Amino acid sequence: RAKASGKSRYEVFHPAMREAAQARLALENELRRAVAQREFIVYYQPIMNISSGGLIGFEALVRWQHPTRGILTPAAFLDVAEEVGLGDAIGWQVLEHVCQQLATWQHTFSHAAHLSVSVNLSARQFMQPDLYARIVQLLTQYNIPPNCLKLELTESALMEYSQEAAAVLARLRSYGIQIAIDDFGVGYSSLSYLIQLPIDQIKIDRNFIIQLDQAHHSQAIVSAIVNLARSLNLEVVAEGLETAEQVDRMRTVGCHYGQGYLLGYPLPAAEASRLLQGGG
Ligand code: C2E
Ligand code: MG
Ligand code: MG
Ligand code: MG
Repeated sequence: RAKASGKSRYEVFHPAMREAAQARLALENELRRAVAQREFIVYYQPIMNISSGGLIGFEALVRWQHPTRGILTPAAFLDVAEEVGLGDAIGWQVLEHVCQQLATWQHTFSHAAHLSVSVNLSARQFMQPDLYARIVQLLTQYNIPPNCLKLELTESALMEYSQEAAAVLARLRSYGIQIAIDDFGVGYSSLSYLIQLPIDQIKIDRNFIIQLDQAHHSQAIVSAIVNLARSLNLEVVAEGLETAEQVDRMRTVGCHYGQGYLLGYPLPAAEASRLLQGGG
């Protein structure tokens, strides 16, 4: 049996496996070149106040400006980049772009003084010993008020390092940097653990928003999360808002902030600037 299946496995799967391995190796090499050539750029997705309709900030989303394949989203490269140890380097390029952009916006638009940009941090980046020092150095270099920077961490990043997480967060926050928990609600972490961390904002995951359309109990759960968060003075952002009904529902349960294709797509820096020019 082993021989027969071994033979067929060889014939059927070997070429495909070899191709996959080659593609993976090519991607790794391209990623190394891309980091060296600084091919990573940032798109900016608006985060809106869904009560007033005002723009409160942007989420920075990394893109790879590939020399032949066009603009690539994280799904095409970020996992592999993390696996081969390039995630940190890409993350620092993103943070530098963001600080540079924030400085330009604050210099150009008077109403951009309170604009915040949220940056995603990987679990590994979060636990780099020099994270705090490097962020402080960047903010100082570009003369950015610390409260204009928000760092987004996922539940899993926080759970993975639950011993150290609270201390790292407290240090960043004491400097004035804001902290958000991203993709809230998908990690099945203990709510009581998460909310006692020193944080400023939770972002309710898109999957919850989708379920709002389908299941009645979802509305009750989301409503409970929003109430709990607000009683703790946490900002709540609904992610992935695609329909007017979803925006209405989130407004109804008392959620003040939202992000999603209905409110604005992730934009290249120049288009985000035009949005700000239009009045914010
Ligand atoms: P995320 O942090 O949860 O970011 C939101 C993702 O949802 C983005 O995908 C955004 O384009 C997408 N999105 C926004 N509104 C909608 C909507 O209405 N419908 C749908 N279907 N999607 C929406 P993107 O840009 O492909 O990024 C995917 C993930 O990659 C991010 O999820 C984040 O976890 C990670 N990521 C992005 N940029 C960075 C970065 O600079 N560093 C790190 N470590 N991770 C990043
Ligand atoms: Mg995020
Ligand atoms: Mg998210
Ligand atoms: Mg998400």
